[in-house]
Amino acid sequence: MSLPSLFVSHGSPMLALEDSPARRFLQDLGRNLPRPKAIVVISAHWETMGGVAVGLVQRPETLHDFGGFPEALYHISYPAPGAPQTALRAAILLEQAGFAVGREPSRGLDHGAWVPLSLMYPDADIPVAQVSLPHALTTAEYRRMGRALEKLREDEVLIIGSGSLTHNLSEFRGGPIAAPVPSWVSDFAQWMHGRLAERQFDRLLDYRNQAPFAVRNHPTEEHLLPLFVAMGAAGDAPIAESLHASYQYRVLAMDMIGFS
Ligand code: ZN
Repeated sequence: MSLPSLFVSHGSPMLALEDSPARRFLQDLGRNLPRPKAIVVISAHWETMGGVAVGLVQRPETLHDFGGFPEALYHISYPAPGAPQTALRAAILLEQAGFAVGREPSRGLDHGAWVPLSLMYPDADIPVAQVSLPHALTTAEYRRMGRALEKLREDEVLIIGSGSLTHNLSEFRGGPIAAPVPSWVSDFAQWMHGRLAERQFDRLLDYRNQAPFAVRNHPTEEHLLPLFVAMGAAGDAPIAESLHASYQYRVLAMDMIGFS
């Protein structure tokens, strides 16, 4: 059985500590998937200008790339080994597809990578490499980037796009984790669910024009774009499966989607 590619909503960094349906789902997901030989994460929190970058680090440090959270979060370390050989293979595949690819020898794992992985694979014993999210491509180009990475799946590499199905932090007001969800958030999430289920890929790629409240849910696009990379990594006409759907803190749709 080949591994799916995944889109994972990582939500707030508190996902690492705070019980929620999404957190419990990720803990189960790692146990339920076939065990990958390595993991490649495309995270909203590593954007690069002028091309893609791959992380070649042998021992990635845990980056606490957030501010204003409880001290305990800054003490979490996720000591998974790096996957430089997988990253190099990713670089070559991306170059063959026409992308300019930088090699980054020292970058650690950002929280878009380590927070979900610390739940899915708490033993930190599967090698991990990050591939950056290049700035300002079209959605079709992010999908094409995923297409280039698809071959890695033949080597039992799990490809994860890590972002958030909705993500407007300027409308984040704290409050309880299970606060009621405004319709501008749920309408957008429902539209995405429908287009994924009906495999309307062209409409998905044009989400910014077609989806309700698209710009309000994604004032900047970086948390949605990893979805298109994950989608591309499952080929031309993937089956999209909604693995989990929940909301946190009103404005964060915590969807997890499998593409196969
Ligand atoms: Zn994030």
